Amino acid sequence: MTTETAREHTAERLRSAGLKVTAPRVAVLEALAGHGHLDAHSVHERIVAELPGTSIQSVYNVLDALHGAGLLRRIEPAGSPALYESRIGDNHHHLVCTRCHAIADVDCVVGQPPCLAPNTTNGFTIHTAEVTFWGLCADCRPTVTDSTGLEASAELEASAELEASA
Ligand SMILES: [Zn+2]
Ligand SMILES: [Zn+2]
Repeated sequence: MTTETAREHTAERLRSAGLKVTAPRVAVLEALAGHGHLDAHSVHERIVAELPGTSIQSVYNVLDALHGAGLLRRIEPAGSPALYESRIGDNHHHLVCTRCHAIADVDCVVGQPPCLAPNTTNGFTIHTAEVTFWGLCADCRPTVTDSTGLEASAELEASAELEASA
């Protein structure tokens, strides 16, 4: 795909989401395409070369608009700023490294939200279960295993954080 075609494709996504096509919106979507999970500052760093003078506040505004229109997903693991990603429309979960905060996507084992159901719902209608697996990434694992003698794989199972929203 040429850059021109990619840009037209991005503009089309904005239009079909009911958003006006603006240079910052296109740049933010392109910055996030295929780049995993970025916070507002990392997005800002990536687009400021192309759009000098773009303020961090306008990046926040753009991210809000794109998230509100369903073009971006936002995750907020404890201890991290809000992170944005362009992988939307599936129910994937996240692995987060407790040491370096690296994040990896992991497919939902069930495929459809909610993939977990509580024993009692207290009258809530459950839409989704947000699952975060905390553990150590491949880069951090050897060091910690050396110093503590712990099997890192045991830590991955130790905590899964659940948030149910209704
Ligand atoms: Zn790590
Ligand atoms: Zn993700």
